[in-house]
Amino acid sequence: MELSIDLKGRTVLVAGRAAVADRAVRRYRAAGATVRALGSPCEDPAALLQGVHLVAAVDDGRPGWAALERACRAHGVLFAREEPARHRGTVTLVGGGPGAVGLLTLDAVEALREADTVLYDRLGPHETLPRLAPVAELIDVGKRPGHHPVGQRGIEELMVVHALAGKHVVRLKGGDPFVFGRGGEEIAACAAAGVPCRVVSGVTSAVSVPAAAGIPVTHRGVSRMFTVVSGHAPLTEEEHRHLAGLGGTVVVLMGVGTLPQLTAGLHWAGMRADMPVAVVERGYSASQRTTVGSLSTIVADAAAAGCESPAVLVVGEVVRTGLELQGEVARLAELDSALGAS
Ligand code: SAH
Repeated sequence: MELSIDLKGRTVLVAGRAAVADRAVRRYRAAGATVRALGSPCEDPAALLQGVHLVAAVDDGRPGWAALERACRAHGVLFAREEPARHRGTVTLVGGGPGAVGLLTLDAVEALREADTVLYDRLGPHETLPRLAPVAELIDVGKRPGHHPVGQRGIEELMVVHALAGKHVVRLKGGDPFVFGRGGEEIAACAAAGVPCRVVSGVTSAVSVPAAAGIPVTHRGVSRMFTVVSGHAPLTEEEHRHLAGLGGTVVVLMGVGTLPQLTAGLHWAGMRADMPVAVVERGYSASQRTTVGSLSTIVADAAAAGCESPAVLVVGEVVRTGLELQGEVARLAELDSALGAS
């Protein structure tokens, strides 16, 4: 059974040895309760219940707590049993989705709620973290393009150090941890340090950011595949040839800086100059923006609009489909004039 109680201003007695009850104490404090901690069973538990609304008993394996439970029953005080905090630290790699809180999974929310330490960067839903992870220490390890405040090795070290100190560490990542997220390296770092690690998949920006702009990455009769590529470094000639040859949607992450090489490469490899292209910036934020053009105009269009990272690029007929589905008449006319210019 799951209950949600407003504990603001209420008094909660947390019973259990400090080492196992500490986390519950912090959780109830974070919920706004006045917390009294009772580290060991006492002779006359009823005397302790004065003014107490809830007793949270954390099972520390010691006998003697039964009297407290009986006293609660006798005095009509709510009694809740809690699992003790696990001593062994863990790491959970959590995919935070593209930034919208609503696109966090239930598992992600639960992992955050239980976290002692959260390592986050700006791509996940970081603004609501204090609410989602009320008892956790929040550490910003954010990376901006070309600027790495805490390097990848530093992040792995922080993760491992906190876990070895017995903390439940959440490494919150934008999108999905395994899509250009360096999740594999972080798992390897945990394995090397003997720290148990699990992964909570997230909603990747590769699919959700186009969706936020109304663009389906596949559409019956238009595209039956999509390829997700990293634009961090320019693709090779061979890669451009394969992509152009597939005839499906191409989705590029981290691709704003290499857009000129991408469009030139795909064109060189035989893709039509009038293939629609969209640049979707800052998906799910108040400043989300979509710029559309064709393979031959998008570099100038994106420059004129001042397009910046983070953005997802979509190359393919599905861009037009998206505009049609949304009845974006003005945008379609814009696209057509871009195509005319191709
Ligand atoms: N693991 C992430 C991707 C990390 S790479 C995922 O699965 O989504 C970082 C790139 O993701 C950015 O450069 C950008 O291309 C894309 N991205 C992530 N969130 C985005 C957002 N809200 N809006 C636009 N692009 C986003």
